Amino acid sequence: MTVSIDRNLCYGSGECAHRVPAVFAFEDGYGGVRPGREGGDEALVREAAERCPSQAISVTE
Ligand code: SF4
Repeated sequence: MTVSIDRNLCYGSGECAHRVPAVFAFEDGYGGVRPGREGGDEALVREAAERCPSQAISVTE
């Protein structure tokens, strides 16, 4: 599993970083994936992606 955030969609709610701080960070007003953490806890990452208000988080196998 890999996860990424489309900054063109993210509007900086910060929810992903709040929900899964081990994988997501909040930087420069946007959510981001911490380097090397793209394969973090799958269930939590998928939940964060589903709950992202702008659907900016992509999870791929
Ligand atoms: S939850 Fe979505 S909109 Fe909010 S900071 Fe994360 S990627 Fe951006």
